[in-house]
Amino acid sequence: MQQTKRDVIVVGGGVIGVSVAYYAASQGASVLLIDRGRIGHGSSYGNAGLLAPVTVNHFPVPESFLRVAISP
Ligand SMILES: Cc1cc2nc3c(=O)[nH]c(=O)nc-3n(C[C@H](O)[C@H](O)[C@H](O)COP(=O)(O)OP(=O)(O)OC[C@H]3O[C@@H](n4cnc5c(N)ncnc54)[C@H](O)[C@@H]3O)c2cc1C
Repeated sequence: MQQTKRDVIVVGGGVIGVSVAYYAASQGASVLLIDRGRIGHGSSYGNAGLLAPVTVNHFPVPESFLRVAISP
């Protein structure tokens, strides 16, 4: 097997891994991004690659369910 040295190896090609790989590469690092499946087909696929905490409903207390239930 051919061996190639990399500065950075990123495991997982979701929005986080791809972003880490992108920014490391943009700083001049040689990067290897590996995924057990298809790039971008984990949770990031379900959320279209977005991280938007403002859109997340949190359920730490029972009242949160009431807020969701009465919101339009
Ligand atoms: C339906 C849905 C709605 C969502 N809504 C929101 C929202 O409104 N706001 C918000 O902020 N977030 C939301 N999220 C959550 C958000 O999508 C995730 O937090 C985010 O995409 C996680 O990104 P990630 O890169 O950490 O993980 P992932 O996108 O899951 O990527 C992880 C990758 O790692 C790979 N992997 C795992 N284990 C291994 C291994 N051992 N070896 C190699 N590869 C491996 C997987 O194949 C996958 O490709 C939502 C998620 C879903 C599914």
